[in-house]
Amino acid sequence: MEQRRATRSLEERPMASSTSREGSDHDSKNKEHKRELIAYEALPEWLKDNEFIHGYYRCEWPMKETILSIFSIHNETLNVWSHLVGFLLFLCLTILTAMVIPRDGGGNTFAFDDAASTRSYWGDLMAMANMTGALKHEAAACLLLPPAAADLSGNEEEIPNSCPPNTSSSLSHHHVALIQEASAAPLAVDAASADPITRWPLFAYLCGAMACLLTSSACHLVLCHSERMAYVTLRLDYAGIAALIVTSFYPVVYYSFLCHPGLQRLYMGFITALGAAAVTASLVPVFQAPEFRPLRAALFSCMGVSGLIPVAHKLVLYGGRREAAVTACYEALMGALYGLGAVVYAARVPERWFPGRFDLVGHSHQLFHLFVIAGAYAHYLGGVEYLKWRDADRCW
Ligand SMILES: [Zn+2]
Repeated sequence: MEQRRATRSLEERPMASSTSREGSDHDSKNKEHKRELIAYEALPEWLKDNEFIHGYYRCEWPMKETILSIFSIHNETLNVWSHLVGFLLFLCLTILTAMVIPRDGGGNTFAFDDAASTRSYWGDLMAMANMTGALKHEAAACLLLPPAAADLSGNEEEIPNSCPPNTSSSLSHHHVALIQEASAAPLAVDAASADPITRWPLFAYLCGAMACLLTSSACHLVLCHSERMAYVTLRLDYAGIAALIVTSFYPVVYYSFLCHPGLQRLYMGFITALGAAAVTASLVPVFQAPEFRPLRAALFSCMGVSGLIPVAHKLVLYGGRREAAVTACYEALMGALYGLGAVVYAARVPERWFPGRFDLVGHSHQLFHLFVIAGAYAHYLGGVEYLKWRDADRCW
């Protein structure tokens, strides 16, 4: 019995080895097959999305190959990279904003900051005034202007009795020193007492934009790996979009209604609650049922369109002010860019006109991504305008 079992075991071994070799050959062929780019018709139903893009699809590749495909050419390559580059752009903007715009009145004065510019401006004016006085003293003493012209009444004791040997050189050095003294004193005092408006709403927006761009890029990269992965990453993509929309409101509402705390809290509470509802509807499985699709669409549309209300309200309150008009222009530009992107996305142009021609470069989703980045950047510029406005003009 034992001998027969041993014999069978020996007999079976080559067979098993041959089977495993065949199996591994099959597996490697399968893997090779899984790394091929396939046509739209060969896709499973869950991956079919745009029939005007005919080829270069990845489908159910192993995760490692799926991730490494960020460096290869397929019909999602530019979708991944466009939002990844957008994410890096916003990361740079965040660093730039943190470094260039002082957050705590710590004395950094840059041209970017309007309050700092104002302080610098007043410091320069003081320096010029002091310099003018000094010039008059010097002129009276050295160029023999009459004291009356120099308006020196009561200050005669400050007039130098004689000119130094090298008058022009000494004058210029003296003036430079005067300018430095005169400008340094008020700047030091103002910088110490400066209190720029809080930056958190703009940083919240930058974080929301980065979250949206990064989740979108990741979604485009790994969605094709499996149906489960597509489900998870699409939910994250929705959450990222909700984060972008909600945080886009924060600088608009916070700075527009700085002097109306009740309205500020009302609008910020409203959009935060709406955003939380949209994220919940995107992430919680019970809301994934087809009957909730209109509810999910309505929540996202509601969030986007409701941005019109605080912008219109701002114009009612501050319509005559340049800052309100400039920020509203940036908001209109953002809306136009997002709207145009949505139209291109929904219309699936230009690939609808030339199916298969834009599989790799130039299809509607890539254009949509560019419109999103441009719209988000316009909103950032609007946010910087808000900082300039509120740094210079607060509710005292
Ligand atoms: Zn996308």
